[in-house]
Amino acid sequence: MSRFAYVNGRYECHTQAMVSIDDRGYQFADGVYEVVAISNGYPVDLAPHMVRLERSMAELHFAATPYKSALCVIAKQVVRLNRVRNGILYMQINRGTASRNHLFPSEKTGPSIVMTSRSGLGPTEVQAEQGVHLAMLEDQRWSRRDIKSVGLLANALAKQKAKDKGAFEALLVNPDGTVTEASAANIWLVDEEGALVTRPLGTDILAGITRARVIALAQEAGYIVKEKVFTVGEALSALEIFLTGTTTFVLPVVQVDDAVIGNGHPGEVGRDLRYRYRAFLEDLGPESWHVD
Ligand code: PLP
Repeated sequence: MSRFAYVNGRYECHTQAMVSIDDRGYQFADGVYEVVAISNGYPVDLAPHMVRLERSMAELHFAATPYKSALCVIAKQVVRLNRVRNGILYMQINRGTASRNHLFPSEKTGPSIVMTSRSGLGPTEVQAEQGVHLAMLEDQRWSRRDIKSVGLLANALAKQKAKDKGAFEALLVNPDGTVTEASAANIWLVDEEGALVTRPLGTDILAGITRARVIALAQEAGYIVKEKVFTVGEALSALEIFLTGTTTFVLPVVQVDDAVIGNGHPGEVGRDLRYRYRAFLEDLGPESWHVD
């Protein structure tokens, strides 16, 4: 089946869709993006994804930003054309196409908008049932990790390094010995009191949409959630560790480098939250497309 992409006003065959070599996303990674999960044909938390997209554009001082209602019409069409029921929607917006110059182009230069969608969502059953390993790595990213920028080189290097060490993801560590997040997911632990701990929002991590959803689901279920900075030592001695993210859902971690977490099997809390998250996905309906 053909895949389709939206590129600057046109729906095109995915393999033939192109942007200019003067596109600022290509030249300077001068763009922002979102990845939205599609579950049973419905977008997962589309409204907060659009809010984060608008915030990312504002933080990078984009002059002209498209209306989110217009973006959602395109998004729905891209998902429909690609017949995606369970998969992802990718949206990239960058500062547009202009002759190469570090300075921003004139305000008349409109943004470039690209959207794609594909099937395939979530970790495999084996990963979710057995838990995954992390590799501890220095966090080498820039100081504005709260902006969902397309400048993902340090994230890609970390993910690859983790894979080369036989791990699924990276556990990224700041120079002060505190844990930030993974290359494409937020990190949580369960402390000795059974409370959930995850790093507070700030410029050191991305404000994960799944993180926010899991905080709400956990509090609803009666868990105590502490948004608190934690060290590598605290992570390694935690009862449980798990990841949250659009493509990972809630994914238990059973080992970090050579250190076994808990009893080496996915813990009860992570498993419970994974089921609760999946139940939330099953409840989505057509109203999930509304963003205003
Ligand atoms: N942190 C980073 C660095 C990410 O790239 C992502 C997702 O790609 C996340 C956290 C999780 O965010 P979300 O739950 O919005 O997918």
